[in-house]
Amino acid sequence: MSPRTITILGATGSVGRSTLDLVGRNRDRYEVVALTAHKDVAGLAALARDFGARVAVIGDPALLGALEDALARTGIEAAAGEAAIEAAAASGAEWTMAAIVGTAGLKPVMRALEGGGTVALANKEALVSAGALMTEAARASGATLLPVDSEHNAVFQCFDRARPESVRRIILTASGGPFRTWPLERMRAANAAQAVAHPNWSMGAKISVDCATLMNKGLELIEAFHLFPVGADAIEIVVHPQSVIHSLIEYVDGSVLAQLGPADMRVPIAYTLAWPERMETPCERLDLVAIASLDFEAPDLVRFPALGLARQALSQGGAKPAILNAANEIAVASFLESRVAFLDIASVVGAVLDRYDPPAPASIDAVLEIDREARRVAAEVTGKIRN
Ligand code: NAD
Ligand code: MG
Repeated sequence: MSPRTITILGATGSVGRSTLDLVGRNRDRYEVVALTAHKDVAGLAALARDFGARVAVIGDPALLGALEDALARTGIEAAAGEAAIEAAAASGAEWTMAAIVGTAGLKPVMRALEGGGTVALANKEALVSAGALMTEAARASGATLLPVDSEHNAVFQCFDRARPESVRRIILTASGGPFRTWPLERMRAANAAQAVAHPNWSMGAKISVDCATLMNKGLELIEAFHLFPVGADAIEIVVHPQSVIHSLIEYVDGSVLAQLGPADMRVPIAYTLAWPERMETPCERLDLVAIASLDFEAPDLVRFPALGLARQALSQGGAKPAILNAANEIAVASFLESRVAFLDIASVVGAVLDRYDPPAPASIDAVLEIDREARRVAAEVTGKIRN
């Protein structure tokens, strides 16, 4: 069998590197077309050399010279800038991992979906901000959209796609993050290092903070709404601190199917990489006896208001989910720079949702316009908090 051609958008990140770890263990089965990164020239060049990529693309155009130098005499083509990342996404690889973080991933994801290949989607912001446009693009081109996010991957593995009417509800599990048991007073003083110290998963900084506020679960609620044919009311959130059950489906007959596994992103990534087959991974195997018990609790919407804001944005629809996502990115960045307090993150998002109410976007450019304006409003709101 000839190797499958693959492109990895966001190759130097947490998901990108986990993907390449699996590819590295199966080198004869995959051929790397393009790898992209934002600013990490050395990291990107090392990966491109190691995996024999045809093209390496750095997002920051000012770094083209540095990338060319780092790839001199390798035969690997160097490119830079947003348009070059989009071109990499449209490179026609049979399989594309979309693992750029944030809104920067929107156009690349769209290009990959338009290409009609298989797209493993980690960039949840694309579905949150532009879910209807993304799923429509996939339908139009015949692209296969495989969810990488562990919860959605779990749902995907359990969901009977031939009989969606037989599903009563989707139950997304949430770890509860590092502040699950913290009283509100203590959360008020939480710093960035505490917020990114996730109890079960090792991830990028932004998504780790989202886990601490539960905004991550809110974004995942919206993501699930676009990926699976059920209503918003049929998607529930349950806190499950061990992160062993990654999500569940309840059928109309009362049967509940769940996917369990170690808290290692290589499991869902491997599922998308080998799909529709399965592949071996080096992941730790689940030891149920050692785990002994699994706990569940209802999410606390008072300490974690972000979850309520996300549900509200989903039910209002239109531009609101894109605004939620953009305002959250600004608020999280300000928190990581110690410019606002932990509890301010949700307050900023709530204020931006109240203040900005544009019509529903009909194109990716309209989504990006809403995204820009929501960021501007969010920056204004965070500025006021600081003063
Ligand atoms: P990360 O921050 O570790 O990596 C992000 C990647 O995107 C890097 O390669 C970076 O160079 C690139 N990038 C960042 N900004 C860019 C820009 N402006 N232009 C071009 N490239 C840019 O993030 P991550 O944890 O790997 O997460 C990636 C995506 O996957 C996110 O959307 C996240 O929500 C989602 N996700 C991650 C995990 C996880 O376990 N890490 C789990 C579920 C979903
Ligand atoms: Mg997740």
